[in-house]
Amino acid sequence: MKFDAFFFDLDGTLYDENCGMLDAINQRICEWIPRVVSLPPEEIPAFRDEMFRRYGGTLPGLTVEYGSDYYASLRYCHDLRIEDYLSPNPLLREKLMRLSGRKYIFTTAYRFYAVRVLNVLGILDCFDGIIDAIDVFPEPKPAQSAFKRALQITAEDDVSRCVFLDDQPRNVAAGHKAGFFSVQVGKEYLPDPLADASISSIGDLLTIPAFQEE
Ligand SMILES: [Mg+2]
Repeated sequence: MKFDAFFFDLDGTLYDENCGMLDAINQRICEWIPRVVSLPPEEIPAFRDEMFRRYGGTLPGLTVEYGSDYYASLRYCHDLRIEDYLSPNPLLREKLMRLSGRKYIFTTAYRFYAVRVLNVLGILDCFDGIIDAIDVFPEPKPAQSAFKRALQITAEDDVSRCVFLDDQPRNVAAGHKAGFFSVQVGKEYLPDPLADASISSIGDLLTIPAFQEE
């Protein structure tokens, strides 16, 4: 099967989520919360769960409900030295280059951060564009509107010829429902029953039969 376009999630999909970077981002999100809303520290986990459930993330929830400055919060929470967590991945680069079709990043993170991550991994030039948190605000993945917005921004008009890859089961299920060929990546979670394919690591990308050239 020949696909026109591939939409890749970033965090936990294009690199191993156990590298410590997501913990560092989460730490910074927890530092940001008290700047916006007064909460006892023990209530922060439940608050974040609720924001995740209702808005797909803490930062959009803080913005919609409490007037947090979305851009400032994204910049603060992603202000990390990426090189401390990630290193170049030439093998991944080679595999991405062998995959024919347009390639996009579709992330709920900040695009300035996404560029820095891709640059450190050595794969920035493999991608045609980035859809980020700002593009889909205030409804990130797994909202169906986020998938529609991603197709609109990229001018991809045939979703049946588009692939979506993500590590989160609920995003994979939503991508499938939106009409994408949806691939679950990573070992952290069991594949969602709606996943069209699953791989334990992004390095196995080319083992998916549908991606092999006829
Ligand atoms: Mg992810």
